Amino acid sequence: MALLEEPIKGVPMAKNYIDGEWRESKGEIIDVVNPATNQTIGKVGISTKEEIDEAVQAAQEAFHDWRRTPPVTRCRYLFRLKHLMEENFEMVSRVQTQEHGKCIDESRGETRRGIENVEVACGIPTLMQGDCLEDVASGIDEYLVRQPLGPFGIIGPFNFPFMIPLWSAPYAVATGNTVIVKPSPEVPFSQTKITELVEEAGFPPGVWNMVHGGKTVVNGMLEHPDIRGITFVGSTPVMRDVIYPGCGKTGKRCIAQGGAANILVIMPDCNVDATIPALMTSFFGNAGQRCLAGQTLIIVGEDKKFYDDFMEKVVNMAKNIVVGYGLDESVQMGPVRDVKKKENILNYIEVGLKEGATLRLDGRKAKEIRGGYPNDCFLDTTIMENLDRKMRIVREEIFGPTMGVMRVKTLEEAIEICNESPYHNGHAIFTSNGKNARQFQYDCISGNIGINIGIVAPMAFFPFSGMAGSFLGVLHTQGKEAVRFFTESKVCIHRWL
Ligand code: NAD
Repeated sequence: MALLEEPIKGVPMAKNYIDGEWRESKGEIIDVVNPATNQTIGKVGISTKEEIDEAVQAAQEAFHDWRRTPPVTRCRYLFRLKHLMEENFEMVSRVQTQEHGKCIDESRGETRRGIENVEVACGIPTLMQGDCLEDVASGIDEYLVRQPLGPFGIIGPFNFPFMIPLWSAPYAVATGNTVIVKPSPEVPFSQTKITELVEEAGFPPGVWNMVHGGKTVVNGMLEHPDIRGITFVGSTPVMRDVIYPGCGKTGKRCIAQGGAANILVIMPDCNVDATIPALMTSFFGNAGQRCLAGQTLIIVGEDKKFYDDFMEKVVNMAKNIVVGYGLDESVQMGPVRDVKKKENILNYIEVGLKEGATLRLDGRKAKEIRGGYPNDCFLDTTIMENLDRKMRIVREEIFGPTMGVMRVKTLEEAIEICNESPYHNGHAIFTSNGKNARQFQYDCISGNIGINIGIVAPMAFFPFSGMAGSFLGVLHTQGKEAVRFFTESKVCIHRWL
């Protein structure tokens, strides 16, 4: 099948956008590599402390007028942005595939989910309203207003380069704050395209800034006294050891969402024909690089025939997944993001085998890459059986197209194993029994629960929950919780004299 046209052409430089101007970074310049073709498709700068300081200054200066702009006017900029995103829907989706590797339909889904957050934030005149009570005492009224705080830093991971910063940025600016978005330097072009549309939508200079880079930019945000808060989505070690302590030191608001090692539980009463395709998307969608991807499959019960028949169907479907470049619409699984990530996944498979797992489907070397692309970042689907709850491949995040299968006798044991996992991001159950479903939903410690469905990102009007992050923080990105996060409540008391 023919490839869709690539939108990134001629090795462009991803520039910073500060105070309404495009500025080339003064830091080290690195290559952006398409993991499917192995070609350098662009360049990006690892920005310096001075550059993040310039962005914070612009955001701080813009905040004065932006917070005084009526919410109805602020959200008109977002309506324009939404309109421009729709007009450029296919182009921004292809950018994601070209720089990240995921299949085009996965990118289109990501674009849709990102735009939905802009749509929800367009309701800010309603969402931001406060409360009022007349006559708290005779002739005295009390009311609460929600006010913006100032510049926020928004730090994104590599795996959803378009959508994830949009879990935060639209709510932040709609409520009257200003933002500095820092995309992952591995995939800088999706946010660059969004920022071009932000510029076209006419946002005043300094309201929506973008600075590319890595640790230096993140540390610059954490240390800067004028940054009022941070939203971070990425790995657990960075969340736990860098973001939360950094925000704590300087007294910043913080939402930080970390990693995952999710478990999907199969009851023998599940609808097998509906379950198996859902497992394919859950474990192998986005080449397993989703924080809501399945990593371990637990099959409950002692019925050997059920297990054998079920696994045969799983293996047959998994081994036929078509691997290749995601701009070919017949491809079902793209590469992983880079060689280092592939090595990490291969290492986890070795760890699992050493710990006693057995290989049922060996995806360590992609057998056929549609289009004949170099195999540097490609993997096939891997299935390992005979897992044990103590194994590292159950308890640590792999983030690749692997499925580890474990058998247990009871649902209670399966729930216990889910609750032992240090991540608590998303678990699912497949059953036709309402009591089992209720028990799982009730007892499982997890921010997201799937019942007869592999877990997808919550809709924009629900929070993106995940309990490991929220044991430390309270609120989440998206929807009403994001509005609460980006505003401070101020209680006013008025005696009518
Ligand atoms: P990462 O933690 O390596 O990077 C995330 C961001 O932090 C990037 O912008 C990166 O430049 C920056 N960063 C990296 N190391 C840093 C350091 N030492 N100091 C300061 N900043 C640093 O994560 P990633 O590999 O880009 O993304 C994958 C991870 O994100 C996975 O663990 C996945 O589960 C997680 N994730 C979580 C969610 C969620 O909602 N919980 C959603 C998507 C991805």
